[in-house]
Amino acid sequence: MDAKVESLTRYKMWIGGEWTDAAGGEVFETHNPYTGKAWALIPRANATDVDRAVKAAHKAFTSGPWPKMSASQRGALLRKLGDLITENAEKLAKIEVADNGKLFSEMRGQTGYMAQWYYYFGGLADKIEGSVIPSDKAETFNYTEHEPLGVVAAIVPWNSPLLLTAWKLAPALAAGNTAVIKPSEFTSASLLEFCKLIEQAGFPPGVVNAVTGFGGEAGGPLVEHPLVAKITFTGSDTTGQRIYETAARGMKRVSLELGGKSPNIVFDDANLDNAVKGAISGIFAATGQTCIAGSRLLVQRSIHDQFVEKLVAFAKTARMGDPMSLDTQVGPVTTPPQYKKVLEYLDIAKTEGATAALGGKRAEQFGGYFVEPTIFINVKNSMRIAQEEVFGPVLSVIPFEDEEDAIAIGNDVVFGLAAGVWTQSMRRAFTMAKRLQAGTVWINTYRAVSYLSPFGGYKRSGIGRESGQDMIKEYLQTKSVWISMATEVPNPFVMR
Ligand code: NAD
Repeated sequence: MDAKVESLTRYKMWIGGEWTDAAGGEVFETHNPYTGKAWALIPRANATDVDRAVKAAHKAFTSGPWPKMSASQRGALLRKLGDLITENAEKLAKIEVADNGKLFSEMRGQTGYMAQWYYYFGGLADKIEGSVIPSDKAETFNYTEHEPLGVVAAIVPWNSPLLLTAWKLAPALAAGNTAVIKPSEFTSASLLEFCKLIEQAGFPPGVVNAVTGFGGEAGGPLVEHPLVAKITFTGSDTTGQRIYETAARGMKRVSLELGGKSPNIVFDDANLDNAVKGAISGIFAATGQTCIAGSRLLVQRSIHDQFVEKLVAFAKTARMGDPMSLDTQVGPVTTPPQYKKVLEYLDIAKTEGATAALGGKRAEQFGGYFVEPTIFINVKNSMRIAQEEVFGPVLSVIPFEDEEDAIAIGNDVVFGLAAGVWTQSMRRAFTMAKRLQAGTVWINTYRAVSYLSPFGGYKRSGIGRESGQDMIKEYLQTKSVWISMATEVPNPFVMR
């Protein structure tokens, strides 16, 4: 083994309550997007490893301690996990930054906050009640109960690996399912560190399993596995569609959290200083690598030039640099393919006739995968730069005339994940919230999410919701039980 490989941290997968290499012994490198250097080796799972993980999850679902546990006991385990996350939040955040290059300040906030999903769903575990149905049949008693589905496959992307895992894992376990998680091949280390906390919390073997590897080699076999009952996926709409098609063949349930091209709409009656901050947070926070990025800034024509001037002045002050430094505001793009994609979109925008009011090129002075915060004006909503998800620090500014125009432009995309509105008129705020086709609408704020509030997409942004009380039903199935109290079965040839 050469010195470089020896110096890398070597991770193992967590399957059936054991730390294990991939069956074939293969590994792949994970790189720090800031330095571009490899820092860890991750097991490269294939169909054999996936089969082992799914069978371990299935065994844990059908036998052993997990199915015998009461919902209160499951809840207690989840809350214990929440405590361990809180204790280890800083360590987990550092690993996320080493893998995805997002700001330490942002990731530290996320890893600390994500404990809330385990506390919340831990608390909800024993509050899932069935109902007694008022029966219309004589001498019968009819009630419902909600039962878990079985093995849940959770597939997550690279932008917020542990937070997005929490959105799936906490409700899946609270409902009594078992899970196999596959992180992105670009950000596997934090999930494997997180599995140490699963072990420490004392979850029975096989209840949570992690397989690491590439989309086709590990994700594909996981989606196809006949013992998987549900797939919960966050990622691109293209992969989501492929997963949906495969799931349909196996008649599996799906939750899909996909991309977005969210409108952030500024009216001329808005507090413009706040709206500038909202626009910045919508596109340059997390280097624009968030599904809820407000990547289309719709500005009322009467204030367009004035607003763009203020926005450019503010965005110019954004400090790029080392994501671990607390002073940094914009970090690198996470992956080499994503970097290439963002640069391609800069060219596409210029070719389409958009003008860069700020940025528009790579930020060479930093090395790594840095792109200058970019603001395009002279954008038409029909352009590719306004229709397709860039997933980078690239904003398209589009003027509009009035409310009708803002709604028409805002809704004129295939996505419907989120929308922002900046106005001081209450009537306008309610009207816009009602008419925008998006799973989340923010008025005079942007990027607020919570374990308490349902999150998900309209249109091509997805199927199903995450967070909030109701969504736990997405991990349950309802059984209706009929009990006859009659002493005799009536005419067997007639439906009761
Ligand atoms: P991606 O679709 O390329 O990959 C997501 C995951 O799917 C990865 O783990 C990948 O290995 C796996 N995968 C790839 N091909 C697969 C296959 N054939 N079968 C099974 N699994 C497969 O997405 P990405 O580039 O990692 O993430 C960025 C995307 O995620 C963006 O489009 C973004 O909008 C979306 N996203 C959505 C939300 C949301 O909540 N709506 C949140 C974050 C990110």
